[in-house]
Amino acid sequence: MAAIELSVADCIPKFTTEKHYQNPKRMQYLSVKLMHPTLGELAYAVCLQINSRAQFKNAGDFLEVMDEDSQETQCFSMALFDKYSNIRPWLVDGGSKSGSGCWGTELSEGDMLYIVDLTVKDEYRSRGVGSYLLQKILASYCVGHAFCWPTPIASNKPKAEWAQEQADITAFYRKNGFRRVGLTSFLAYSPDSFHPSRNLPIASDPETPSIAFDSANPTAPTLTLDELHPQYPLHFRLARDKSPSIVQTIRAAYQIDAGDIHRRDVNGFLPIHIAAASENVHEFDMVEDLKDSENDGGVTPLEGLEVSMRIMKEIMDLRGVWKGHSDEALICEYLLKNGTGGEAEYVKKNKFGCTCGMCTDGWLSPRMRFQLLVQSEIQGDMLREFDTLFQPRQPLSASELFNPVLFYLPKPLQRGIYKTFYIGFYTLFDGMAQILRTPNAIPTPQAVITAAFNINPSAVQFYLRKGGKVEYVLDALVDIAKQQSSLGDGTFGDTFDVEEAEDAEHRLGYRKLVVCANDLEFGLVRLGVGLTMGGRWGPFGSLWEREMGMGMEMDVDGDSDSDSDSDSG
Ligand SMILES: [Zn+2]
Repeated sequence: MAAIELSVADCIPKFTTEKHYQNPKRMQYLSVKLMHPTLGELAYAVCLQINSRAQFKNAGDFLEVMDEDSQETQCFSMALFDKYSNIRPWLVDGGSKSGSGCWGTELSEGDMLYIVDLTVKDEYRSRGVGSYLLQKILASYCVGHAFCWPTPIASNKPKAEWAQEQADITAFYRKNGFRRVGLTSFLAYSPDSFHPSRNLPIASDPETPSIAFDSANPTAPTLTLDELHPQYPLHFRLARDKSPSIVQTIRAAYQIDAGDIHRRDVNGFLPIHIAAASENVHEFDMVEDLKDSENDGGVTPLEGLEVSMRIMKEIMDLRGVWKGHSDEALICEYLLKNGTGGEAEYVKKNKFGCTCGMCTDGWLSPRMRFQLLVQSEIQGDMLREFDTLFQPRQPLSASELFNPVLFYLPKPLQRGIYKTFYIGFYTLFDGMAQILRTPNAIPTPQAVITAAFNINPSAVQFYLRKGGKVEYVLDALVDIAKQQSSLGDGTFGDTFDVEEAEDAEHRLGYRKLVVCANDLEFGLVRLGVGLTMGGRWGPFGSLWEREMGMGMEMDVDGDSDSDSDSDSG
């Protein structure tokens, strides 16, 4: 065929957007067709624009939302981000998983543009059409970072052909300024031409070890179990055979092919993942000689196990039912780390993912304790201030008492609050504060009640007898602490995470406290203090009702008393 004169500069990209069907406020699809005045459509692309980062941070549902969208976005989100859409620390901390080290925590911020597909019609390939289209998209729509997964579309191509195609796609994106995030399968792009990724030579951009894994091939997950079994015999045996004889199986497999023990299955799992996931502790009776062995990608069994534990945690988190790592996984970890101090102690300390070694019972971190203590004191004091509003024997409603914390009482209790009930309620906040000030004390419902009883037994007794529960107080505290944390409006940090605290007393020092992965794990606190996951918790009443209650604060002096009279009659 005669060469067609093709000047890409004559092409015009036609953009159309469509709201995401499930999450129209946070995401939209961007479709682009590259049109030539005489030749028509030369190429097209589909992207997912992911906006409202703040909402994901607030709700902690990034993985959940991505999981619902597609398998591809699920892989993307799990590989790169946590549930708050923050970049995985090991991809940016300069360690062995950070790859070139050109990316940092800036990936935790800003809008994302995920390139789902970019296809140039066969007859127009290798003429700069794809690059032209991609650059147009980036220039017009990439305000934060763009991401892609350079992978051929699912097909039954021979493996070598498929790998070549993947290398070509990767080269295409690199030529256009994309660089690998850590050692993942994903590349990212920064519109900032001074970003380190933009100055990293292509030759220095690492390949991902997973490039050789079958899991990178999107056709693989469609295999049936019968097809998988012969490919991954060791995985299957570990999942099924929990008898000590499995050790022999592993040894034998190891002797035949040492790579087997580090072979990932279609889901990217190593045999050790399977052993851990099936709580197969026996494998670890013989890991002495395997502990430090790495596979081609430099993954040790310990790293593999830790990935497995993290994935397990995140999957259970998504379902809202994570109750800590399994004891078996922790014992495996202990053995692999050549731990000292005893298995039981290790399990207790690490059950809930503590990284500071200082968490009481493995979940209540020093910084979490501080946040809850501050809330207990502030909320208790604010409630105490409005003591004077009560007339003798006249109950008041929650909306007359101006404190949002009262909306954590169920509605029937909100309607008629007697002064003694009210005092009992805030005495529980005082009891909570007392427990939290005691080193290593855990604010279980019983502990808080006991502490509050010591302060004002009759008021606490009255509160409990009238249907009040200590759980309403715990619920309010955890919820309000979360709302004011960096997962919410961040007001806690503005006030307390500062060099010089305005309040010169004991509220100093949040910044000096050791940092732990559990510092924002409010879900763990709920679990730890006995607030059931499925329970109905506050705040109760519509936002409108609650704002009405708050709004009254402004015109309280102008209003008369007529409403509350009729209720008490
Ligand atoms: Zn900790």
